[in-house]
Amino acid sequence: MVKLADGSEKGLKGHFKEDFSHRVREGLAPRSGHVDRDVPYKRIATEEAWTFPALVKAQLDYFDSGEAPDDDSLRMGAMFANMPSLQEMLQDLGELRIAHMDELGIDRQLLLLTAPGVQVVRPDEGTALARQANDLAAAACAKYPTRFSALAAFDPRDVAGSVKELERAAKLGLNGAVLNSHFQGRYLDEPEFVPILEALEANDLALYIHPTAPFNAPHYESRGFFGALGGFPHDVWLHTMGLIFSGAFDRFPKLRLVIGHLGECMPLHLYRFDWMQGNADNRARPGQEPVKLQKTVSHYFHNNIWITTSGVGWEPGIKFCQQVLGPDRVLYAMDYPYQQSADELAAYDRMDMTPEVKKMLMEDNARSVFRIRG
Ligand code: MN
Repeated sequence: MVKLADGSEKGLKGHFKEDFSHRVREGLAPRSGHVDRDVPYKRIATEEAWTFPALVKAQLDYFDSGEAPDDDSLRMGAMFANMPSLQEMLQDLGELRIAHMDELGIDRQLLLLTAPGVQVVRPDEGTALARQANDLAAAACAKYPTRFSALAAFDPRDVAGSVKELERAAKLGLNGAVLNSHFQGRYLDEPEFVPILEALEANDLALYIHPTAPFNAPHYESRGFFGALGGFPHDVWLHTMGLIFSGAFDRFPKLRLVIGHLGECMPLHLYRFDWMQGNADNRARPGQEPVKLQKTVSHYFHNNIWITTSGVGWEPGIKFCQQVLGPDRVLYAMDYPYQQSADELAAYDRMDMTPEVKKMLMEDNARSVFRIRG
């Protein structure tokens, strides 16, 4: 429950219970699992969350001002802001985080600015906060070059500012970019945002689309389905399909897209996507010429899209995705600090894969997609 300036309270129900912070502090799963330190691969975790005080304050200030649009994503940010133990872990880019990584057997984290990020603050503050985030992330990577890599934040509502910031982030040596899915119900598939896609491709930055709470969706909240039970995967699914059917990957064939949580269930549907492609091909969207894709939907999953295993340390699902996408397209992720578990790490070590495929999953694919050296 978030306390507002006028003393009233507003909170998300269902998935985001008040005791969530407590569960994170205790660990969502016990850390007691035995993690083997002597494995023939590094463990690179590729969806690991962080934030910083100025952003948390900007989210809370905007939310409390009553001037923000009714946005469940911002409300989620305000709720996270009021969880001290969670914030302690999110805001640390040093010894505490590294101690947890050592405890869990993680060699390197790829840092992502946690949802909802800079895209929910006052529109004129987003790019400046993205710049601060990227400087802080780059400094952490420079201080701990063998432990951290990071994705760049940007605020897509400021297209020109995003293009400049992505160029700057590439020069800073950041490893890609992250967007916490929709921004007040908008998506990168609209023509206005094409320069951002162009800048991502031109600067060789993979784009990670991470979930956030869906926009104005009381039908999710009332059922407790805001997060992993529905809202998160559904919103990233929509964003990904929107990008594909906008023709983004025909226009920018080297654009790399990464989606978490085993591809938000989408790999299971590749057969049907191709079968039903005609439903959306050639359909005019508001303000946009009709687009007919040059390839099948599954083609883009085999050429432009990579997935991570964040939150789904589950052998049958991972092996299915390796089988249908190719073992080079599936990357390990933990989702620190939201879902940390040594038992889960031990389960990855036990998974029945050839040594080559296991190393691709845990290390090699991350290095390749996110240009991680060292
Ligand atoms: Mn996550």
